Amino acid sequence: MEHRKLFAIFGDPVAHSRSPLMHNTVFKNLKYPASYTRVHLKDGTKLRETFFSLCLDGANITVPHKEAAYKACDEIRGFAKNIGVVNTIVNEHGKLVGYNTDADGFMFAIKEFKKVKKILVLGAGGTAKALCTRFLQDDIKVIVLNRSEGRLPYFEKLGCECYTWNDFIEEKYDLIVNTTSAGLKDENLPAPQKIINTVLNNTKFVADAIYGKLTPFLKLAQEKNITFKDGADMLLGQGVLANQLFVNNELKKEDINTFMKKKLSNLIYPFLELCNQKLTAFSKYSTLLTIAYRSYM
Ligand code: NDP
Repeated sequence: MEHRKLFAIFGDPVAHSRSPLMHNTVFKNLKYPASYTRVHLKDGTKLRETFFSLCLDGANITVPHKEAAYKACDEIRGFAKNIGVVNTIVNEHGKLVGYNTDADGFMFAIKEFKKVKKILVLGAGGTAKALCTRFLQDDIKVIVLNRSEGRLPYFEKLGCECYTWNDFIEEKYDLIVNTTSAGLKDENLPAPQKIINTVLNNTKFVADAIYGKLTPFLKLAQEKNITFKDGADMLLGQGVLANQLFVNNELKKEDINTFMKKKLSNLIYPFLELCNQKLTAFSKYSTLLTIAYRSYM
């Protein structure tokens, strides 16, 4: 009998994740014998044993377990080695091999902003590590602003300018990226309102790693008429790369991209009629995703 592969996403929270829909649509439409589910994991140190107890062939890992995922692997390949953060695991004959597809997924998402030379990154977690390292590879100046000090030395060593909320000095930026989880399951801003207002007045573009929701941070950017995007394209970019790893390149990248993209846009299509606000193309997309997300859940 044919072996039907099983994949999952681990996270806390994980109910909001679109990954199962994205990967399942590829498997179904391209007739690849596999399914993808979600696992709510509270304790990251249990990742490895949970992975094996579910007999998984691979997994994606989301907040807050990406650093724990790195530790859970037997071998790390590619960009994940530079940053110690894993968002994709492949089971190779009982050996867990870890990768990171977030950073390249994000570069794909901001391609249309062009000429980005200076970026303010809000947050200093796993996603920030991946993005900052990738930005520096492209000679982009990176400033990191985090709530607490503990994680900043890593970024200083990388070559980023680092601040906490207490010692922050604002400048002008091409892009501000929210990589904190503020706004994911609450209505918090990623930094005190006074700081957020000031930095938003000094940037051309804004991006949030959170997707499917117009976060309070994006709402403020929208009110200030700043071109913004949520994390949907980053999600698409990292998902396509992860799927290629899961199927060991047996499916074409363009086909994976087509079905994942279609799934994401199908989610928003029925709500097009509802939206007649004057928004930029990006903010309209984000708002529609929010409506779709809330209606779906
Ligand atoms: P981590 O847990 O590794 O890091 C979280 C960061 O957020 C830390 O710097 C933490 O600060 C900060 N933070 C948490 N809560 C608050 C708050 N209330 N106010 C200010 N700062 C806060 O998370 P990840 O890097 O893995 O993920 C971050 C976000 O990115 C998540 O929302 C995740 O869903 C999203 N994401 C989206 C992707 C996509 O495809 N679109 C891909 C990857 C991630 P401190 O150090 O002080 O604790």
